[in-house]
Amino acid sequence: MAIATKLRTFSGIQPSGALHLGNYLGAVKRWVDMQDQFDNIYCVVDLHAMTLPFDADALRERQRGMFAALFAAGLDAERSIVFVQSHVPAHAELAWILNCVTPLGWLERMTQFKDKSQRQGDRERISAGLLDYPVLMAADILLYDANVVPVGEDQKQHVELCRDIAQRFNHLFGETFVVPEPLIQAEGARIMGLDDPTRKMSKSDDAPNRTLYLDDSPDVLRRKVGRATTDSQREIRFDPSRPGIFNLLTIYQLLSGETPAAIEARYEGKGYRDFKRDLGELVVESFAPFQRRYQELLAEPEQLDALMARGAERARAIADPVLARVKKAVGLA
Ligand code: ATP
Ligand code: MG
Repeated sequence: MAIATKLRTFSGIQPSGALHLGNYLGAVKRWVDMQDQFDNIYCVVDLHAMTLPFDADALRERQRGMFAALFAAGLDAERSIVFVQSHVPAHAELAWILNCVTPLGWLERMTQFKDKSQRQGDRERISAGLLDYPVLMAADILLYDANVVPVGEDQKQHVELCRDIAQRFNHLFGETFVVPEPLIQAEGARIMGLDDPTRKMSKSDDAPNRTLYLDDSPDVLRRKVGRATTDSQREIRFDPSRPGIFNLLTIYQLLSGETPAAIEARYEGKGYRDFKRDLGELVVESFAPFQRRYQELLAEPEQLDALMARGAERARAIADPVLARVKKAVGLA
């Protein structure tokens, strides 16, 4: 009898701030839900979190915080390899090799680079790392022969670039890399800011009341939802042309598991106040199990260290032979 092998997933999250609802609904919740379906590798990409100005102590703390958050959100060390990127040196090494086969023009066209560099303004302050970010991300994915990369909508362009880099490399040096596919869900792939539904929730683009962090206190969560921007209309409907209420309804739908029709029926004839009050409670309730587990994990630093060491060891066992294959292909070995 043939043994069906599972496809491999790889994805990562930056410790550039705390886990927020956009990361959770667009990426991490799906990683958790799909754990039995794939052969899973998930990574706290701390090298990526150095591409915007950062503080060393904050980076150290957030690296551990994000690692704990992934387990608190439901990743399971038995079913998924979870590790910290900088603990596996092959990522930085492969990124250099890929840099040398990636055309500069491809990187200059990336939307995230344009957005994040524009926000910093002065060109003298933008790091070369910010431009190079997608090459490091390609190295992350290609080191594990990943077939699928579950990400939010904003990272689709980078996964496509990774495919282009893999194909170019394979063409230049012979079949070396598996060419991965992005995996993006229909709803929740882009959760928008509560204060400004034209901007996505982001760790690095935080304005007060924009982003719901999974470790925000219940009062803060209720307050942020209560102040969310809506519009001057009355009906509570899933209408994409009304981005504020549409975003809140999408959040409600994904956290409650109810259908849009059931939600619209419940709020027929009711106002934004009622809806926001219920949504605030739903968010508080939905985050409570995460918050409990997160505090427990942070209170056990030795256990966290052991999980990190085990994850890195398992990741290296896959990444090192792939790097050796690449070095051979390009003539370094
Ligand atoms: P930063 O602002 O530092 O880039 P971020 O909030 O964008 O942080 P990342 O670590 O870059 O988070 O991305 C982690 C995952 O979360 C990626 O798969 C990304 O596509 C997804 N993601 C990020 N923001 C959102 C969002 N607002 N809605 C849905 N998915 C998102
Ligand atoms: Mg991002």
